[in-house]
Amino acid sequence: MTRKKLIAGNWKMNKTSADAVSLARDLVAAVGTAPEVEVVICPPFTALEAVAKVVDGSLIKLGAQNMHYEASGAFTGEVSAPMLRAIFTTHVILGHSERRTLFGETDELVNKKVLSALKNQLKPILCVGESLAEREAGSTLKVVQTQTERGLEGVSKEQASTLVVAYEPVWAIGTGKVATTEQAQEVHAFIRGLLTKHYGEAISQKVRILYGGSMKPANAPELLAQKDIDGGLIGGASLEARSFVELIKAAAAIA
Ligand code: PEP
Repeated sequence: MTRKKLIAGNWKMNKTSADAVSLARDLVAAVGTAPEVEVVICPPFTALEAVAKVVDGSLIKLGAQNMHYEASGAFTGEVSAPMLRAIFTTHVILGHSERRTLFGETDELVNKKVLSALKNQLKPILCVGESLAEREAGSTLKVVQTQTERGLEGVSKEQASTLVVAYEPVWAIGTGKVATTEQAQEVHAFIRGLLTKHYGEAISQKVRILYGGSMKPANAPELLAQKDIDGGLIGGASLEARSFVELIKAAAAIA
């Protein structure tokens, strides 16, 4: 089965609302009507609503970088799934390694967020990946299995088909070190195997599994050509229109 490639940009804590609007405008002009690849941009919360207006009417979709699992309440500083939906957000990155390591997010917490996102018709981009120490200890697949299975606990078959999973080896994020195509494909195939075990072949073949970790226009074509690599979650290279558009074009060339 052919899965449409998905290129998602994680802008992290970068760009004021005005800067975000400017980048979004450039992206709409360059790839806003290109249907071969699905494109999602994830600005910081403060820019979501302004960027939503810019991408409205284009094919570019909007994602958030995090959310709380409750719908509302006394959770100072947090933002909920219904709030994100109300400003036309369609995707949400959950369990990013920076959330796990810098903000103490556990698999249990990530799972609550995944369930809340799905309940509110937001598509989770569930991030999983091993640290350098875990890779060197030979526990990559075990770590990825635990994060994937715990993160998806309670997700129904029907919900699973809307999921996106991102394999992001922590040692490759923002470091310039990219996983080899063999390393990445091995883990992607493993994740698809886990999805098959839990949801069956038909669903697992629908789920997009993105690679993330120093993906750049130079290394993207080889990674994106792998059987189980269905796109990229891009940090650094998504902050500038030129490199992000090149990545989208690299994905379109393979699609
Ligand atoms: C990320 O943070 O999701 C990421 C992949 O970052 P970078 O592309 O900068 O490695």
